[in-house]
Amino acid sequence: MSKKNPYKEDKPGICTVCGKIAFFDEFGNGTCPHCGWEMCKDEEKMGQEQGISYPMLVPVWRAREQYRQGKPFKATFEDFVNGLYFYSEMSFLHKGIHYYVMSSNGKICVGHGDVYQLYDTREEFTEKANIDGRLLKDIWDEVENPSYMFD
Ligand SMILES: [Zn+2]
Repeated sequence: MSKKNPYKEDKPGICTVCGKIAFFDEFGNGTCPHCGWEMCKDEEKMGQEQGISYPMLVPVWRAREQYRQGKPFKATFEDFVNGLYFYSEMSFLHKGIHYYVMSSNGKICVGHGDVYQLYDTREEFTEKANIDGRLLKDIWDEVENPSYMFD
């Protein structure tokens, strides 16, 4: 008995970030085997209008810059906040601690375990969110894997 190939519907195309051959499914989605970019059909529009992509978070135009510079794809703090307003539940890692960031009714909650901070507006979160008094926007280089919360 032969197994069904889950990829048989995929069509070859050009990766929107590195320009090499990648495969797209019927919805125009796919992961590039060369650079790791996860393509989605609406990424140009999302990048222009919302400053993000999905599921990668980094807008495609910034991903191209990062690829050209030989850097890994990583959302900036601004991309992250854009993603928060798109998806409502985000996460990142800082010095081994897994943080969540959630938005609800315009308010933003950031924390880990029982420790959290609450902010009333996007501006307040952007300016004041901190880890042990160090502003998140200033220590973003230390933050790893800023992304949507998928589970
Ligand atoms: Zn690629």
